[in-house]
Amino acid sequence: MLDIQYIKNHFTELQEVADQKKIDVSITTLLEKNQLKNQYLQQIEQLRQQRNQLTHTISGHMQQQSLLPTEAIQALKDQVKQINQELQQLEQESKVVQQEYTQLMELVPNYVSPDTPQGQSDKDNVVIRTWSTPPEFPFAFKDHIELGEIHQMIDTSRGVRVAGSRNYYLTGIGALLHRAVQQLALDLLLAKGYLPMEVPTLVRSSALSNTAFFPLGIDQTFKIENEDKWLTGTSEVALVSYYQNEIIDLSQGAIRLAAVSQNFRSEVGSTGKDVRGLYRVHQFAKVEQVIFCEANAEISEHIHQEITANAEELLQLLELPYQVVAVCAGDMSQKTYKQYDIETWMPSRQSYGETHSSSNIHDFQARRANIRYKDSEGNIQYCHTLNNTAVASPRILIPLLENHQHEDGSIYIPVALRPYLNNKEKLANP
Ligand code: AMP
Repeated sequence: MLDIQYIKNHFTELQEVADQKKIDVSITTLLEKNQLKNQYLQQIEQLRQQRNQLTHTISGHMQQQSLLPTEAIQALKDQVKQINQELQQLEQESKVVQQEYTQLMELVPNYVSPDTPQGQSDKDNVVIRTWSTPPEFPFAFKDHIELGEIHQMIDTSRGVRVAGSRNYYLTGIGALLHRAVQQLALDLLLAKGYLPMEVPTLVRSSALSNTAFFPLGIDQTFKIENEDKWLTGTSEVALVSYYQNEIIDLSQGAIRLAAVSQNFRSEVGSTGKDVRGLYRVHQFAKVEQVIFCEANAEISEHIHQEITANAEELLQLLELPYQVVAVCAGDMSQKTYKQYDIETWMPSRQSYGETHSSSNIHDFQARRANIRYKDSEGNIQYCHTLNNTAVASPRILIPLLENHQHEDGSIYIPVALRPYLNNKEKLANP
């Protein structure tokens, strides 16, 4: 949500951003509705004052036993009646305009950072750095599905049989690896002072609207029938909403939260895309970083670099080649001010695949969720929020298994993961 005054002052730029982000909203119509809404409120206010004056006059005359003839008092009463009818009509019309205005306001995108690349889709994202190099295998390498079968750790057949498409079981060492990467990511964040959280994954629609996943992401979200309860696709929803309608204390610096959660996504719009294996599934686990900081562009930019670096550190600990890309405006969601994606090398795709998404939201979510803080001068302001994946699994198992395979089918375990896996150095081919 943006401030209406800001929208008025920047309507051309915001319309451009909306078009780039492919959001069907007319800022001109929004401003017209805003004007109309204000006219209605003014008219209603004037009529209420008029009515109050009339009723005051009538009761004055009644108390003083009628200085005016009865007919004159009746005429005043008739006027009050007419005003009440008019008011009823105007209030109804104003309610409709207010609803239309709110619906349009909910669609207005956040502005984007000046250094965000221009572009329409992920093809226009810009690689800003790479780490390590993709392995060149002197043998016919296997994909994660084949490796998963050899090591009896991934079972998509039973997953689909039990839960439908885009589902899986992780078994034995697969389940342990899945937990190990999450614990490694969480420990990394704990060492940096993050507060660990277990959070609700079934939330009210208001939490999804507050965090700008609704209305535009509604078709990505699974709903519990006949209840206002929805399964979240990321713990960002519960973490940001934790402070909804509160004035938080940022006097000691930013608040850093970390949650481990299951996430659920309908993946509508991805029909036929990435249907094999673990890349795009309906349910996955994620360790998420969410930060609340002062509404200061320099501070939040600094934290954006920091949360991106945390994810890079994790990938370096997993010894996986990756690249960081600056996401272009057309590939960003409504709420995002600036975004980096981290893409990790996946041999079976012969390309880097997205494993992390790091976003600075500025005060867009805080305005919707009404999260404020008192600045050093005592003014109450909306804070900035940021988020990034620390690790998402099972997608991360794709590069982990594929990059670290040996010709004999064994899999190297990165040093940092070993303490979580009984100090195993590799998974031998059974
Ligand atoms: P997001 O919260 O959309 O920024 O996604 C964060 C990360 O979650 C992505 O970079 C992926 O690693 C992972 N992820 C997102 N959607 C899926 C999915 N449908 N299946 C598996 N992993 C996913």
